[in-house]
Amino acid sequence: MTFRSFMDVALTEARAAAARGEVPVGAVIVDAAGQVVAQAGNRTRELHDPTAHAEVLAIRAACAKVGSERLVGHDLYVTLEPCAMCAAALASARIARLYYGASDPKSGGVAQGARVFAHPQCHHVPQVYDGIDATAAERLLKAFFAGKREGN
Ligand SMILES: [Zn+2]
Repeated sequence: MTFRSFMDVALTEARAAAARGEVPVGAVIVDAAGQVVAQAGNRTRELHDPTAHAEVLAIRAACAKVGSERLVGHDLYVTLEPCAMCAAALASARIARLYYGASDPKSGGVAQGARVFAHPQCHHVPQVYDGIDATAAERLLKAFFAGKREGN
């Protein structure tokens, strides 16, 4: 089976988030057969929910669809390095592979900061692939925050 990246779907969700005035981060969950199970963008402002990150919303939707609290064999694509909360959620969901785009020196919890998957208390460690379409994700984030500074 040839590798097919679903980062384009995640980037579409990130752009939609930006259009809603949310930090442009998008995520998509794909099952072992290569079918999209859930996709989401940040909705923290809209839902008044600090946990409504793209990854958490995608995990909730995928688990509801699958009818399980575990997403064994599923992959998650996200445009930005997950924060510590999302990394912990990914581990709890037993996500098989994590593909992410831009690294996040401010809030990232995978390759820096909390490095959640490196904890001995982390009971499931997904395979991690970083830098997938990172430039496109970075460009979106930069444009969003530049626009915010001008607007406010
Ligand atoms: Zn997060």
